Amino acid sequence: MGIENCTEIGCAKCGACMTVCPVFRAEGRESLTARGRLHLLAQYSGQPSAALADIFSRCLLCGACEQVCPRQLPITRLIAEARSRFSLLQGPASLHKTAACAVLARPALLDSLMKIGLILNHLLALPKNSGLRLKLALAEECRVPVLQPLPENVPQDSADGLLYFTGCFSRHVQPSITTATKGLLRRCGLAARIPADQCCCGLAVWSSGGIKQARKLAQRNIAAFSGTGVVLTSCASCSSHLRSYPRLFAKNDPWHEQAQAFAARVQEFCSFFNERLHFASEHRGLRVFYHDPCHLRFEPDGMTAPRALLKKKGFVITEPEDDLLCCGQGGLFHIACPKTSAKIFARCSGKALAGQPNYITSTCSGCLMQYQEGLARQGIKNRVAHLAVLLEEAGGGEIYT
Ligand code: SF4
Ligand code: SF4
Repeated sequence: MGIENCTEIGCAKCGACMTVCPVFRAEGRESLTARGRLHLLAQYSGQPSAALADIFSRCLLCGACEQVCPRQLPITRLIAEARSRFSLLQGPASLHKTAACAVLARPALLDSLMKIGLILNHLLALPKNSGLRLKLALAEECRVPVLQPLPENVPQDSADGLLYFTGCFSRHVQPSITTATKGLLRRCGLAARIPADQCCCGLAVWSSGGIKQARKLAQRNIAAFSGTGVVLTSCASCSSHLRSYPRLFAKNDPWHEQAQAFAARVQEFCSFFNERLHFASEHRGLRVFYHDPCHLRFEPDGMTAPRALLKKKGFVITEPEDDLLCCGQGGLFHIACPKTSAKIFARCSGKALAGQPNYITSTCSGCLMQYQEGLARQGIKNRVAHLAVLLEEAGGGEIYT
């Protein structure tokens, strides 16, 4: 449904969505809630204005409103589709978002930019936790973690056809996540192939309204992962978007069926490893805060599987006293609305730090970036690492630089 011809949206105007909306909590404007946006969508006809583009840009697409909506309205899809009608040059920070989308759609360009970022980090001799360093690339040198010896007689390549979708962040920015995931696979007696032709999952461009571009990226990934094997992902957001590929194609489009077959093969990191991974050693007493990515916390075992993994390793999980919160990253929301994003993060990180964790972890690239940059800006030297890195390396020294 677009901006025109959308009078039958079916919002009951009950307001349930307002109670859970992180943007409404931060800004207090009803136009920035699902109810407000759906009202505007139903009223609007004609060419979208800059003011409308601004309102629709200020949504994290976190999906919290969909979970409480009694009408079960597809709110995030409606907002993303509305964004696809806006000019790329409308809305806050549109040039930044457009540039970010262009880079994400081109793996070779992303790779080059990351290398330039690393060189600049060295040239400028920036401190490891400098916000500028994080802004330049959020990059780390590829380093080989110190792995404990593998058990003997571990069969390698025992899962024929297991494929690994790394996602842009693990592939180009923080390769220690890929290294740690491969290490965890070895502990399970498995090895995965990483198809070289894979590209960005497309979530960021889809979130910005680039539905045609998102379709092209989906087609490239479906082709790169042809076959029948399991597709493992180490990023919660990539995993969620890969599984939603069918919604990008009309039911009569031949790609729809291919997208369905591909989506059925995708397995998210935590549930995959929770079924297979057992640890010989534990790290009793180390306190860990696990941040639930919005793209995982509404899944059936999205909150239990990561906690089960952490408990197997002997970590003490620190939980916030009240409700779970979005971190404020939300695709490119942190670029479009940095002030609102910072307000949302301040509230979220305050709750995370209240339990005095030794480590903060998650499996979503966006959430990890938000925590790494946000805490560095506050001058807090808390350790933030992907769950794969934490499980593979924690307890033996520095887990993240
Ligand atoms: S919860 Fe759903 S039905 Fe109720 S106001 Fe929000 S969008 Fe409308
Ligand atoms: S998706 Fe999230 S940020 Fe957007 S309206 Fe719904 S609750 Fe608010």
